Amino acid sequence: MQNLRADLYHSLAEAFADPPQWLALAGDEWHLYEIASDTQCLTRCLDAIANIPAEPLAARLARYNSLFVGTGCPRFWLYESAYLNRLFGPETFAVAKIYRAAGLETVGAELPDHISNELAFLEHLARSAETRFLGESGFLPFGIGQDEILSEEKKFIEDHAGRWLPNLGRALAGSGDEVYAPIGQLLAHWMEEIARQCGIQKAECGRTPIVHHSSFHIPNLPNIAQSDRCTLCGFCVQVCPTRALLIRETQNETALVLKEAACIRCGKCERICESQALTMSPAFNSSSGVIPLRQSSRVECRGCGEPMVSQAEFDFVTTQIGHPTWLDYCLECRSV
Ligand code: SF4
Ligand code: SF4
Repeated sequence: MQNLRADLYHSLAEAFADPPQWLALAGDEWHLYEIASDTQCLTRCLDAIANIPAEPLAARLARYNSLFVGTGCPRFWLYESAYLNRLFGPETFAVAKIYRAAGLETVGAELPDHISNELAFLEHLARSAETRFLGESGFLPFGIGQDEILSEEKKFIEDHAGRWLPNLGRALAGSGDEVYAPIGQLLAHWMEEIARQCGIQKAECGRTPIVHHSSFHIPNLPNIAQSDRCTLCGFCVQVCPTRALLIRETQNETALVLKEAACIRCGKCERICESQALTMSPAFNSSSGVIPLRQSSRVECRGCGEPMVSQAEFDFVTTQIGHPTWLDYCLECRSV
């Protein structure tokens, strides 16, 4: 069974995730190329894709990083919220709510409004169209007509994907990158075509102007203004998708530090912090690139003098269970 629309969403979603293995092949060996060849409105994008030479995956990754990953402000944002507004803005929550209502959850570290998640959701909607419209025929052609495109898919394109992906595609097409410029061109053509098929007016599709690097608001960085609120529980470290947050432990001290360059300003750390110690606040530059957020000396065992937990953790535990004497001793000394 073939569903060109769903297959195209799928391949584009993969193309904008961390480069998959197939992206290292020459363009005319991609499944994306094959699907585009079968999709009449995309034939004008084929030559540019066919000319993409094979390249090691590491080189593809370097392209990806130079275009889409960067400290605070990459060349092209791959998040609806960042593209239209600010990273981790209302669009992020809006699409997450839509996924949840459809019984879906995003997997992996990316925000719900990342291009790959939005395209994967469109793929899901297009595949569910199969069950509604396909019947026994087993083939769902590209040009199925606007009445046959699920209203949910149309609405998602109207409210979300169609508002920014055509512009992103066009901007990428002008980037000069040998690999991602043709993919951007294909993305723009495809999103414009599907919007047309949905009956969305051109003026409503991709109406938001491209946000240029220089005019973009640089989002905040994690910060702890009131250090005694942070219990050094480490939950923020656990959820950080890029390992920008670390707990560093020496003989005398436990510290929560932020590697500024690795932080993508997603705000997950702020959301997980129950004590509201960590908040996303205006960024400042550190000369070393490593920002200490919270430092706490380590409590010594009253028996052997070995360092145990941090004073911050110790204080938190005593607020929860009081201060029994055994708490002052390490596990070894307790069992003596
Ligand atoms: S900032 Fe919040 S989540 Fe992170 S270690 Fe401190 S208390 Fe825990
Ligand atoms: S430090 Fe916080 S804002 Fe930065 S990437 Fe990690 S979770 Fe996201």
